[in-house]
Amino acid sequence: MFSEFALHERLLKAVAELKFVEPTPVQAAAIPLALQGRDLRVTAQTGSGKTAAFVLPILNRLIGPAKVRVSIKTLILLPTRELAQQTLKEVERFSQFTFIKSGLITGGEDFKVQAAMLRKVPDILIGTPGRMIEQLNAGNLDLKEVEVLVLDEADRMLDMGFADDVQRLVDECTHRQQTMLFSATTGGSGLREMIAKVLNNPEHLQLNAVSQLNETTRQQIITADHNQHKEQIVNWLLANETYQKAIVFTNTRAMADRIYGRLVAQEYKAFVLHGEKDQKDRKLAIDRLKQGGVKILVATDVAARGLDVDGLDLVINFDMPRSGDEYVHRIGRTGRAGNDGLAISLICHGDWNLMSSIERYLKQSFERRTIKEVKGTYGGPKKVKASGKAVGVKKKKTDAKGDKKKVAAKTPTKRKSANRPKSDSLVSKDGMAPLKRRKPEAPAAE
Ligand code: AMP
Repeated sequence: MFSEFALHERLLKAVAELKFVEPTPVQAAAIPLALQGRDLRVTAQTGSGKTAAFVLPILNRLIGPAKVRVSIKTLILLPTRELAQQTLKEVERFSQFTFIKSGLITGGEDFKVQAAMLRKVPDILIGTPGRMIEQLNAGNLDLKEVEVLVLDEADRMLDMGFADDVQRLVDECTHRQQTMLFSATTGGSGLREMIAKVLNNPEHLQLNAVSQLNETTRQQIITADHNQHKEQIVNWLLANETYQKAIVFTNTRAMADRIYGRLVAQEYKAFVLHGEKDQKDRKLAIDRLKQGGVKILVATDVAARGLDVDGLDLVINFDMPRSGDEYVHRIGRTGRAGNDGLAISLICHGDWNLMSSIERYLKQSFERRTIKEVKGTYGGPKKVKASGKAVGVKKKKTDAKGDKKKVAAKTPTKRKSANRPKSDSLVSKDGMAPLKRRKPEAPAAE
């Protein structure tokens, strides 16, 4: 129960208004420590309720009578505009019975309007690093009195190349007393470096153990012969599955556009969301999906990051995500708050090994499904290794006369790797894939 936390009654009133009954695991773990002022490093995915886990303690610290605000007290940095907007909404919902004011600074919005908002000095400032730096450079932003700093989706901020901007903003918060860093993955050396630099004796809460992947979501695979065949399967699923809202994930912008075009041609109400879409399009897509005017979203991972839409109960992986963590992220869109969800991955010959690596990473076996109306010829590899990966077929080298060529003893390593299935080591132990080893299907891979 939320009332067990030492939270101000006005915050408990807002929690009750929002009909939150039980704290989620990340809230149960993080709120008491955050209330004590501890630095936190939390590994938890979007959908876990992590926003409330840091917002409630922050509000609790700021709560008080109405007064003239003289400095920004809290800074929350996030990688994308949508996440920043969603976080602002969450902050406003929780602070509705208080005098606490918050403001948003993201790209794609009017610079001068933002500067005017900053002159009024919000208690809590939420935003993306790029525009924050621009406002800082313009002399509009003073972070010296920030007491609490939150780096949300820190791993993604690093992936998106914000390391230097984030560090500069952190350095501006010279009087900070508490820092909380959230990431969906355990991250790589960049994240470890940031943690070492930014956090002070942090408590590490690890809540996205993959075993916590929404238990209410069924996970299936359907084998496919090629991309056109995958398109047929997508059509069949969208026409025959029962769902409120669906999201189709692709790895490239080009493929997202292509599938979107096909769907629109069939008079589906759909939207496409990828890194090339401008802010207006993105807002419109998300609003329509939330309101229910549009039921289908085609998206790349970058664009769908942090998307929180009620009733999203069908996820189709047109392309298999490139890592186990990205898979967890995608599937995290569905089956939220105890609702049933269905996640279906379409698997061609080239996707098999990646899929089986992800199964191993998750310690789960996806349900194999066939749809007789759109059944193809590929049904998985003929032989699989103990790991579940395909056994590669070794080609015998022949010379011009058709005789078997003697294999030179000098180059065994090279030959061996040439025979190995390409995606063999795409997913490392921590579930992260070295992207450069996978050839993008189109130049505009995200
Ligand atoms: P987040 O992981 O912070 O993006 O939260 C995911 C969604 O879960 C948001 O829509 C929250 O409003 C909702 N949520 C967070 N905590 C709870 C809770 N304890 N009970 C019900 N819903 C929650």
